[in-house]
Amino acid sequence: TGITAQTSPPTERSEALFTRARTVTPGGVNSPVRAFKSVGGTPRFIREAHGAYLTDADGTRFIDYIGSWGPMILGHDHPAVREAISDALQYGTSFGAPGEREVELAELVTRLTHTDKVRFTSSGTEATMSALRLARGFTGRKLIVKFRGNYHGHADGLLVEAGSGLMTNLDGGLGAAAPSSAGVPEEYAALTLVSEYNDPQGLDTLMAERGAEVAAVIFEPVVGNAGVLIPTPEFLEALHRVQNAGALLIADEVMTGFRLSLNGATGRLGLRPDLICWGKIIGGGLPVGAYGGRAEVMDFVSPQGPVYQAGTLSGNPLAMAAGLATLRTLEADPDLYTRLETYTTRLSDGLKTLAAEAGVPVSVNQIGSMLTPFFQDAPHGSVRSYTDAARSDTRAFAAWFQGLLSRGIYWAPSQFESIFVSAAHTGVELDATLQAVRAALADLNG
Ligand code: PLP
Repeated sequence: TGITAQTSPPTERSEALFTRARTVTPGGVNSPVRAFKSVGGTPRFIREAHGAYLTDADGTRFIDYIGSWGPMILGHDHPAVREAISDALQYGTSFGAPGEREVELAELVTRLTHTDKVRFTSSGTEATMSALRLARGFTGRKLIVKFRGNYHGHADGLLVEAGSGLMTNLDGGLGAAAPSSAGVPEEYAALTLVSEYNDPQGLDTLMAERGAEVAAVIFEPVVGNAGVLIPTPEFLEALHRVQNAGALLIADEVMTGFRLSLNGATGRLGLRPDLICWGKIIGGGLPVGAYGGRAEVMDFVSPQGPVYQAGTLSGNPLAMAAGLATLRTLEADPDLYTRLETYTTRLSDGLKTLAAEAGVPVSVNQIGSMLTPFFQDAPHGSVRSYTDAARSDTRAFAAWFQGLLSRGIYWAPSQFESIFVSAAHTGVELDATLQAVRAALADLNG
């Protein structure tokens, strides 16, 4: 639009980098959402990040609501995390042998999450993939159940209905679903059954028919990957009923772990999963994942047990140091989660009011420091499944996103994502954000 063209900061350097990047990297990025395909325009190449701010290659500063997609709960370049990494750096970057920090982080994670044992990986994808192998090894069963629109990383068996709006029955069987990606054989996808999030009856019916074959039911305890979806108490009860059928319940807390409380969504919502997966925050911005649970199950993992899982860089000393510093800082500041929630609630309230004033239909879902405004005409909090979320006006969202970006607000570049507020966000950023929100909403009417 005219307004965007007039006020947009320069993007020459990002454009030049994007051109070079596309020559040597598929789509010019190392993870698809970064390419801005669902909102259009030039993805900003980021030069540096401090506190609540990103600075791009052209020198424009943005208030950051991505937080590297979750890890940066303390804000970017937090002094405690930076110090811990620099300290670790003096002693070498990888040993290929065990070290003290892995023990310390494992002790901290198991204590905070009420698990017995934890195994570190290098990404959330490895954590969920390994947790499923463990569940299959432990139960001797083959099938897994996941929920439509829940994302658990990019392992073959999990790229099924992982954010696609289409429900396709390959063989017409209950819960059968299509792969979300080329390159995932239908035979793999056939081992993954799909149910609708927040549909307790659907899950009960599926388990009644196939429960004896199900090794695990994996779920996002609060969904971030279809936009924010909050589970109903009835759905959480149905999830726990799968344990009666001998299936393991796996809470994928890669996004919500240490985000929704110091004890994760599991602690906040009072869940009793058999296994939990983590990533993001436990690495403090360095590459980490982890999975854990009670000793009886975790002792099936090699070298103790028969389920193989390994990693050259697993337990990497720099990543462990960043994770330890992050979790210790979170634990030392009991009010931090309240401050995050207060900020995000104010942002949510502001959004609701401003959208109503502008006459733009928006339905906001928010919990803790996670928030998604769905551009659709529905009561706030009523979007509960991927099917609900998919009714959103993605064009309106994209235009709104561009309006924010041109005003220095870096929102998540997709309707179907959560934003992440950090402890570095203050009243100054909140006011600036709401001003931009008001103007971007006005653009939609202009
Ligand atoms: N599980 C959830 C809930 C996630 O949000 C993500 C990533 O966004 C993953 C798993 C995969 O983690 P990673 O990107 O570290 O492989």
